[in-house]
Parts: sequence; structure tokens; C-alpha cells
Amino acid sequence: MIKYDTFYIQCPKCGAWLEGHLVKSEMVNKSILYSDGKTLNDNYITEPQKIIACPSCSHWFWVEEYKEPVVTYKKPDVPYYNWNHWRFFGIHFNSVEGRLALVEHYKQCLQAIDNDKDKELYVRRLMWWAYNDLVRNNYQMHLNYLFSGKMSFNVWRKNRKKQKLGRIMFKKLHDEYVDNMKALLVLVKGRYTPDDEEYEASILEIIELYREMGEYEEAQKILDTIPRRTHYIAHIEKEVKKRHDFVFLVAG
Ligand SMILES: [Zn+2]
Repeated sequence: MIKYDTFYIQCPKCGAWLEGHLVKSEMVNKSILYSDGKTLNDNYITEPQKIIACPSCSHWFWVEEYKEPVVTYKKPDVPYYNWNHWRFFGIHFNSVEGRLALVEHYKQCLQAIDNDKDKELYVRRLMWWAYNDLVRNNYQMHLNYLFSGKMSFNVWRKNRKKQKLGRIMFKKLHDEYVDNMKALLVLVKGRYTPDDEEYEASILEIIELYREMGEYEEAQKILDTIPRRTHYIAHIEKEVKKRHDFVFLVAG
């Protein structure tokens, strides 16, 4: 059964057509949630890609919402670029090189959005996730993951090598990773008020940013103001107490 809708969007500069997919939320079998808020539905990131670099003319354009008339569900009569050509800027997301390239793309995005705070917040959040992607699945390196039977030994060993390389790169980029989080923290703090729907989620994001920045006291201070202990919050608190600053898998 097809789990996604296929849409088409046209580059505003050169008129090239691009094909993309939208996952049908009612068809999702499996969601994965990480502590930084990144969520995958059936391995598709739930956050829409708002910045597109046209694969034909390299023009960057912003798509606020994938809705008609910006997109159409009617297949164009001319050849079009498929999703892999422009999704995540055409990078191969599963390799460490691809993940590093994605970080670089977001740096370029920051230059291209000229001082729009909402756009900057969006880009910095995705950039944060992109750095974390380097170490996001480090839990798969552990022996108990091998014994869980989710990977064969050879696949596990190969993956372990990749995870280790990701970790090395992550450490190398740690200063710029923290700089981005600092800037993101300021944006998130300034963006939402208790009247906003996203306010509660933004508090969790602030706690997580402090934790990943290694500012555990600040994280704990806010945690102490939250009366409710969901599985998610309890897990973050546990990591804060352990002085762990890595992104972790919450559910999935
Ligand atoms: Zn174009």
C-alpha cells in the first residue's frame, strides 16, 4: 500500500519540476522520537523541508507549506527531478560524509535567509539535528543491540565503524555545534510565550539544549519547575543527573 502522497513543485526561477512525497500520517506504522525532538515516521523525517536548492539551476527557495497552489498533485507533462535529487539537497544521508555535507548546506542556508528570525530558528534547529545525526544512533554500537537481533553481525560491525567515525567528526565540530545551540537557544527563548501552542514543547527544547550544551544546572532548574513527569521528561532528567550531553533515543 502506498504510504505517501506524491506532489510536484516548480522552481520559481528556472521552472524545473521537482517531485516529492508527503507521508500519510494515518498510514504510519512506526514512529521514532529522539531527545532533540527529531521524529521519524517510517524513517521519514516529520519536519517538512522548507528550503529547497533547485537541482537544475541551484536557486534556493523557501516553501512554507506543502499545500496547493504551491504544490500540485497533477503530474507534469515534462520530465521532472525525483525526490532524491533535492531532498536534503541531494545528499546521501546514510553516510558520515553525507551528514557532514548536510551541516554545510545549513550553514549556507543561514546566509541565504537574511535576518528572518523564524527562518533562522527553523534552519538552526535542523542544523542542530544534523550535527546530532553524526552520533544519533550511537546506541547501535553497543553489544546488547547486536544481541537484540536487529542487525546481523556483519551489518552491526560495519555500522559500528560508521558510528565511530561519526563520533570522531562530532567531537571535531563540537565548538561550532555548541555555537549553533547557543544561537538557537536565544531564538527559542524569544519566540514562544505561554499563549503559543508550541510553548510547552519549547520548554522541553530549552532543557534539552542546556543539557546538550553541558549546562546541567540550568537544565535542572527548569526541570524543577515542571510538575508533570512524562516518560520523556523523566528520561531527560536522568541524563541530566548523569551529566550526559549526547542526544538519545526516547522511543522507537
Ligand atoms: Zn531552478
